[in-house]
Amino acid sequence: MFWDEKIEMMERGALEALQLKRLQATVRRVARKVPRYQQKLAESRVQPRDIRSLADVHRLPFTTNADLRETYPTGLLAVPKDDTLRLHTSSGTTGKPKALFFSAKDVDNAAELIARCLVMTGVTKRDVLQNMMTYGLFTGALVMHYGAEKVGCLVIPAGPGNSEKQLLLMQDFRTTVIHVTPSYALYLADFLEKKGVDPRRDLALRKAFVGAEPYTEETRRKIEQALGIDVYNSYGLSEMNGPGVAFECEHKCGMHLWEDNYLLEIVDPKTGEPLPDGQTGELVLTTLCREAMPLLRYRSRDITSIIPGPCPCARTHRRLHRITGRADDMLTVRGVNIYPQQIERVLMSLPAVGRNYQIVLEGLDEMTVNVELAEAGFDGHVEHLTRLQSEIADRLRAETLTKPKVHLVPPGTLPVSEGKAKRVIDNRSL
Ligand SMILES: [Zn+2]
Repeated sequence: MFWDEKIEMMERGALEALQLKRLQATVRRVARKVPRYQQKLAESRVQPRDIRSLADVHRLPFTTNADLRETYPTGLLAVPKDDTLRLHTSSGTTGKPKALFFSAKDVDNAAELIARCLVMTGVTKRDVLQNMMTYGLFTGALVMHYGAEKVGCLVIPAGPGNSEKQLLLMQDFRTTVIHVTPSYALYLADFLEKKGVDPRRDLALRKAFVGAEPYTEETRRKIEQALGIDVYNSYGLSEMNGPGVAFECEHKCGMHLWEDNYLLEIVDPKTGEPLPDGQTGELVLTTLCREAMPLLRYRSRDITSIIPGPCPCARTHRRLHRITGRADDMLTVRGVNIYPQQIERVLMSLPAVGRNYQIVLEGLDEMTVNVELAEAGFDGHVEHLTRLQSEIADRLRAETLTKPKVHLVPPGTLPVSEGKAKRVIDNRSL
């Protein structure tokens, strides 16, 4: 099922020709209209006429969060302020927010991309979509809302939380699709269970679009089983319109990134050097259609890889692997790049392991992983603990290509923090 078959199935040569044309137009426009880019292009000694092939994108300067913050609020606008229609912001962990403007064309275009995403998973105008993302300055809810309306769905702007109300809406309006974060989806599944509601019997739910936070394949399966639905992975970022940048098709094997709208690169997060398809690195995106606020080579800080080869659906837009972490979380241990999420994935796949763990770096690159046992993880036999310890060490070695020490601790003994857990303690004397 296609929303825009001509574009979604466009032959690679034609798609790349379209990308080049749009890239050239974007570079020309920012060079004319945006002083920050005039300065950055001059520093990189690149002129718009130097962009003759798609590979020339590597000559362009990166755009970072610092560029967005330092030009706040309107410094990256490429249109007069009167031609903008909507403002969203994106909050970072520190300092001022990033201001993101949409023109009328940008609002419509973002909705078009969402429509492609929804229809590709089988959504039609007969569906009822309950949008459980936060409405407001955050792009997540509104952009999805407009796209689902374009498809013709009945959209319920429920927002997150208030599970009693969510349940009432799902029952009374026969909601078939939800748009939700993985953490709220898991919470909702628990809530329904406590209420004695069997989603398969009592609700009309069929699908969930889950995004806005990284999550694992295990979490997908958990949500699917608990709610009796199909879960599709969705990727977006406010700097690129919000949701709808990349989305899974019915085959659920990676997210098609809409390459007529975004030029995609994977780079080494440390050096910024481009990496070939299949290698894991930082996603870098250039907008090809944005009118109000085009961005060149935006460093997303999200870690992923391109899945090589064609998808069974035959769409020609390449697929991204799920986001496996943030570049800012990357650790370098003995020259190897490691993401705490890799360690978490190994630990969480073992039933004897509890929820809490800690990575401690000391001395000259010594890594120790402190692992809390599950309540039921210790039966009193020391040899079982020794076996578990070496199993964890083996798996961590295979996953991270380093040799961490593993230290097992009783349940509830590692510090618990409110909110974001502090997983890494770096006491290295480097
Ligand atoms: Zn596909």
